[in-house]
Amino acid sequence: MRDLTPELVEFIRRTSTDLPKDVEERLKAAVEKEAPGSAARGALETILKNIELSRAKSTPICQDTGTPIFYVHYPEGWSTRKLREMIRNAMVEATKKSFMRPNAVDAIYDQNSGNNLGGEDFPTIHFEEVDADQPLTFELMLKGGGCENVGRQYSLPATELGAGRDLAGVRKVALDAVQKAQGQGCAPGILGIAIGGDRGSSYIKSKEVLFGKIGERNTDPELAALEERLTDESNTLGIGPMGFGGQTTVIDTKITGMHRLPASYFVSVSYMCWAYRRRKMTVMGEEVIYD
Ligand code: SF4
Repeated sequence: MRDLTPELVEFIRRTSTDLPKDVEERLKAAVEKEAPGSAARGALETILKNIELSRAKSTPICQDTGTPIFYVHYPEGWSTRKLREMIRNAMVEATKKSFMRPNAVDAIYDQNSGNNLGGEDFPTIHFEEVDADQPLTFELMLKGGGCENVGRQYSLPATELGAGRDLAGVRKVALDAVQKAQGQGCAPGILGIAIGGDRGSSYIKSKEVLFGKIGERNTDPELAALEERLTDESNTLGIGPMGFGGQTTVIDTKITGMHRLPASYFVSVSYMCWAYRRRKMTVMGEEVIYD
């Protein structure tokens, strides 16, 4: 089995230092909406400069290099045990090369492992077997701690918010999450929302949906409309980039629906900061393609 560790180190480097173009384009468009000389415009301009510098110098876009979340879509024949080992080795190497800050802290003993490995759970790796004729594909998201802290989960009905078990209720709790986050999740953010599931699966899906491109809409027209509406309405709250006020609080919203138990109706909102680092690596025989 081919050792992909060097390619995975490069994959981590790209994810940590080179923000995807679709995110950068949306941030550039947002600058134009902010008043000249405003703190909001200044914050966005600084963010954009930072993105350019990180790309040019191959340094992390943010000092918080985030929780690494991998998804591996593997055709039959690959060993998940070996793929996990390659990812973990690559993470150690990427940390040595300073593409990643050592971020894995033992929650009980408060010890930083120093290499971004921690037990079986850090980094997070999800595996999915695909058809034999499909290529081996890795996806990686680096999810910042500040934005993770402002994620929220709601069990509907939430009477204090007047939110029932329907899409109108989902809208209310999602806006509540944005309002409560203020600028603390390093706005402008991207909302990943999962409706249904149990507490665990719902949170996982609310992050998984964030792997989609900016502007990609749910195929369900009702959910697509709610995605647009939540982005627009979040931008009327006056929170703005880094909480400085202004027009740009959220640059996109992504929603996914799940099945649920009759007794439960969870809505999980994962908030992703402007440092929306997510990339894909595809292995086609000897060729490796980075998106
Ligand atoms: S939340 Fe995002 S932008 Fe803010 S410090 Fe963390 S990684 Fe950086």
